[in-house]
Amino acid sequence: MSFELPPLPYAQDALEPLMSARTLSFHYGKHHAGYVAKLNAAIEGTPNADKSLEEIIMSAEGGLFNNAAQVWNHTFFWNCLKPNGGGEPTGDLAAAITRDFGSFDAFKKEFAATAGGQFGSGWGWLVLDGGKLKVVSTANADLPMKHGQVALFTVDVWEHAYYLDHQNARPSFIETVLGKLANWDFVAENFKRANSAAS
Ligand code: ZN
Repeated sequence: MSFELPPLPYAQDALEPLMSARTLSFHYGKHHAGYVAKLNAAIEGTPNADKSLEEIIMSAEGGLFNNAAQVWNHTFFWNCLKPNGGGEPTGDLAAAITRDFGSFDAFKKEFAATAGGQFGSGWGWLVLDGGKLKVVSTANADLPMKHGQVALFTVDVWEHAYYLDHQNARPSFIETVLGKLANWDFVAENFKRANSAAS
């Protein structure tokens, strides 16, 4: 069995002008597609060909882990965005953010600092860790499930995510995603699922 590049949840130009179709044509069409192709080449004819993506991520190391995790990370990232996104979460997620960070603004500030401060390539995350919301960053392909945490939201801070639209200005990219592209409905669904799995 081989993995397929999942379709983007919106048209390639749907996030214009905040995230350009040109960025998505490279980021989704070349980088994400490249990770899928390398993953498939690595598992072909091996016992890993029968495993789920999560099983490969949890058991693999090195190049196989990197490609499998990057497939998962990018699919998750696309779902964290939507046209006319941003605004503020509501309901249980909003209440939990206030409980664990003090306010939504305080959360955004901590997220921007943590994701912006990740040295080199990586990811900024909102995770559920032992019933508490936390902001963390990971290097390269690393991801929360390897650390017993549940991913709720992510921003890709590899340079390939923002260089065409923001050049080297990672903070302006993170600000744009948090303020104008974030799909808080998707994050709320992840939060609800994580809570019901834990109870
Ligand atoms: Zn990326």
